[in-house]
Amino acid sequence: MSSSFKLFRVLGIPIYVNYTWFIVFSLVVWTLAVNYFPYLGPYYHPFIRWIMAIVASLILFSSILLHELSHSYIAQRQGIRIKSITLFIFGGIAQMAGETRSPRGEMKIAAAGPALSLFISGIFWSIAYMYKWSMATSPVFAVSQFLAYTNMMLAIFNLIPGFPLDGGRILRAIIWERTGNLGKATLITSRIGKGFAIVLIIIGLWDILQGVFISGLWLIFVGMFLQQAADEGYRQTLLHRTLSSVKIRDIMLTSVIVVDDSITLDRIVNDFFFRYRFNSFPVVSGNTIVGIISIYDIKVVEKDKWSYTAVKDIMQTNIPEFTISPERGALDALDKMLDTRRGRLIVLEDGKVIGIISQRDIMQVLKLKADLGST
Ligand SMILES: [Zn+2]
Repeated sequence: MSSSFKLFRVLGIPIYVNYTWFIVFSLVVWTLAVNYFPYLGPYYHPFIRWIMAIVASLILFSSILLHELSHSYIAQRQGIRIKSITLFIFGGIAQMAGETRSPRGEMKIAAAGPALSLFISGIFWSIAYMYKWSMATSPVFAVSQFLAYTNMMLAIFNLIPGFPLDGGRILRAIIWERTGNLGKATLITSRIGKGFAIVLIIIGLWDILQGVFISGLWLIFVGMFLQQAADEGYRQTLLHRTLSSVKIRDIMLTSVIVVDDSITLDRIVNDFFFRYRFNSFPVVSGNTIVGIISIYDIKVVEKDKWSYTAVKDIMQTNIPEFTISPERGALDALDKMLDTRRGRLIVLEDGKVIGIISQRDIMQVLKLKADLGST
């Protein structure tokens, strides 16, 4: 997401904030200060009300982040890497590298978020309870009650059994475990998710007809977002399934053009880059791979040095970063390409170059499979 910026890191995961988040944050602060808290206790000083609103909103949004982090924590313990967490208009999204491989694992990851939200809700119910003698006269009571309530709503909303909500993921894992068919489980639960989204949109439209514009529009937005997420989630799962059933060995190109590490930049540009028009070439010394050279490595060298600079002087030598084993799945290859921002990976077996695989190859295989109806 390009419209986001990095906030900080937790558990080694970069936390991003989308700009839409600030709009929602300001709206929540404003609603709390102007509508909610005055309604609870008309006797709060305006200054106190704004402080309450800001504190309550900050804690609420931290609770949403904690909800995401608890999913991520459990996923990390199962060996799934979390690329990032982005806070945006409807809460947070954790970007996982790869999906869980077992229904039980998926169930634990999905349940962790709502469980933490219920726990946070419990803490604030207890605080509110300690201040209950004051009723709404105490700002601590009013803020705690609000946080107890909203965190509970967060848990309940997320437990709705439509994919990709947490409840939908739990139900999907149950169906997956019973039937052994992840695709079917995803199809069923994403349909429930879409059904729920349509119900939200209808309630929203009804609200608007009744003259309740803000909450009506809000429900319609959430409904539309959920509907899109259900579709997207289903497509993603299908893609993952197709890709993980394909081995790199079966789709790699085996005619690989390699360059010798001793040739000069002049020669590699003329004899290789112009001739074959690839962006990068594996570099070998004798029969063993020693590096990779790309057009970008050459561009940074001044042109008058090309005639006496050898490929081995400027090539990239971090071999594990741009190579992969033929036994891995196409999905692993795609993940690695996205992570390292490379269009091609060299396929290595026992230290020898046996093939090359590009993002374009993988996409073509996907398209072929779809065309032949074999997904
Ligand atoms: Zn969640």
